[in-house]
Amino acid sequence: MEFSSKILEKAVEEMSQLPGIGKRTALRLVLHLMRQPKAQTQNLSEALMQMRNDVKFCKSCNNLSDSEFCNICSSPKRDTKTICVVEDVRDVMAIENTSSYQGLYHVLGGKISPMDGIGPHDLSIEPLVNKVKRGEVNELIFALSSTMEGDTTNFYIFKQIQEYNIKTSTIARGISVGDELEYADEITLGRSIVNRIPFENSLKL
Ligand SMILES: [Zn+2]
Repeated sequence: MEFSSKILEKAVEEMSQLPGIGKRTALRLVLHLMRQPKAQTQNLSEALMQMRNDVKFCKSCNNLSDSEFCNICSSPKRDTKTICVVEDVRDVMAIENTSSYQGLYHVLGGKISPMDGIGPHDLSIEPLVNKVKRGEVNELIFALSSTMEGDTTNFYIFKQIQEYNIKTSTIARGISVGDELEYADEITLGRSIVNRIPFENSLKL
């Protein structure tokens, strides 16, 4: 791609670093911004900078939050003894959208994946296990996607907390295998949360 402006080229280059954005799309977006009022680009860059500077990880559940503790952990209406274990913040949003769940979450920040060099210590597993050890949990609901990595992660956590005799469950695998949780429709996902099954029953022995 030949550019008449080095500055434009730099903007396209930066934009094309985003996932799913190739050079052509990046150019289209950049040219779009060039045609819009300057304020739009200003607002966009400010929003992005503020997000990077001010969004925090909740000290309790690792969810993204504007304050030290997220609004779910801070809510007096939630059942604090039930914790749903999810991969990332999109899963929290998907489950919250179902309005079928009143417990708290624990966001791992990924799943164990030796192929990608992600081990248990790269994830927020220890804080979760500590919550169980401190007796703060009655039930742990595993809601990772039904992939090999998801299963491995569930099992790893299960082994760590097995001796503490808390209830463990998993959302019913009605969600087609391999589909990420975030893509499940709300009704199916809501039903899965309500009709969750004992974790042991999900183990392929
Ligand atoms: Zn939280």
